[in-house]
Amino acid sequence: MTIWNRTYECMSRDELEQLQLERLQATLNRVYRNVSFYRKSLDAIGFVPEDLESLASLESLPFTTRADLGAAYPYEMFAVPLREVVRIHSSSGTLEKPSIVGYTANDLKHWGNLAARGLVAAGVTRDDVVQIAFSYGLFTGAFGLHYGTERIGASVVPSSVGNTRRQVTILRDYKTTTLVCTPGYALRIARCMEELGVDPKTLSLKQGLFGGEPWDETVRRAIEERLYIKAYDNYGLSEVMGPGVASECAQRNGMHLAEDHFIAEIIDPATGKTLPKKETGELVLTTITKEAFPVIRFRTGDVTSLDAGPCACSRTLVRLSRIMGRCDDIVIVKGVNVYPKGMGPILEEVTGVEPAYQLVIDQKDFQDVLAIRIEVSEAFFFDKMEKQRGLVDRLRKKVRDTLGITPDILLVERGSLSREQETAPMVIDKRRTPQQGR
Ligand SMILES: [Zn+2]
Repeated sequence: MTIWNRTYECMSRDELEQLQLERLQATLNRVYRNVSFYRKSLDAIGFVPEDLESLASLESLPFTTRADLGAAYPYEMFAVPLREVVRIHSSSGTLEKPSIVGYTANDLKHWGNLAARGLVAAGVTRDDVVQIAFSYGLFTGAFGLHYGTERIGASVVPSSVGNTRRQVTILRDYKTTTLVCTPGYALRIARCMEELGVDPKTLSLKQGLFGGEPWDETVRRAIEERLYIKAYDNYGLSEVMGPGVASECAQRNGMHLAEDHFIAEIIDPATGKTLPKKETGELVLTTITKEAFPVIRFRTGDVTSLDAGPCACSRTLVRLSRIMGRCDDIVIVKGVNVYPKGMGPILEEVTGVEPAYQLVIDQKDFQDVLAIRIEVSEAFFFDKMEKQRGLVDRLRKKVRDTLGITPDILLVERGSLSREQETAPMVIDKRRTPQQGR
């Protein structure tokens, strides 16, 4: 199994933390000197970069939000003069003022290398033909993976997004082995292939790297079956760099985060309190090598958790679990943050496969009540009433033990939820005053 940069991807924890501390120190010095936003926010808490003694002190620094980046429009957050910036991108957000991000020549070099890590981890070699069906433009999606592919020495086919029939033609005629796009677009390509009668087994396609939007194991299975490939997850965001921040290895049990370039924290989005890494919460990232556009404790708004346990691939970098959604998706039930998409894996531990489900939240006597409607499927369908009751009890206990809320479990008929998956909402909140996510 190949690893793009064994020195950094397989570092011991001690070495890595020492490196992180040095790089964080340098980054804090740079932003304190060059970015008035950070100088003001650090001055406000009486912190000077020399005060940084350990990685743990990072927790005491203020967050940076998307609103802060928007307020710095266009270039106030840049930590180098514009003449040192060789590339400018922008976030794809819906905010009135998007975040404008810049890269120095060094930043672009790092970006290409980190994307190369993810491509190599997914099995891409210099013999591969990589079709990049992300939009080439202000959005960072296409470029990082484009550089990474070139760095490896594989062939880039910059097909960009759109014109799906032509994508299929390119896949077939150019003998593409690796598809890079959003998971949603991969399924669209699959549908188009089916319509055109192109059999995926006759293509050279072996693997795909998908990102840019949250997806789940059901989507992964659908992509793998319909395109006849292995599908890998990767994570990145413009504000922090772009794709290459974290990528799955062959184990596909989380995305290794490039901790030699980024420090990750998990916080409770409601209180801002730092949580143990393995708990589910909002991902906060600090860049420690970026020159043009460093961010300190940037609140990504993405809900995930981190796994520091060993991985069979021998990389030592912490693994980011699948992004479960955005913090805005959170519903607060009895004071507990509930991530609707996070319920699937909890139920799956009892049912064996992730069932189709829906959360219904209501109030009774001014108390929140949570009901989970679960569709029965062949995998756990029981004729005997007793067995069904046993299943309901185990599900209720599982949710109670994991979240601390005892739900009502309602088994519903097959097809009543999954058939309309695209329209049936995952959450129905019947409370009179819906609670805010933060
Ligand atoms: Zn691994």
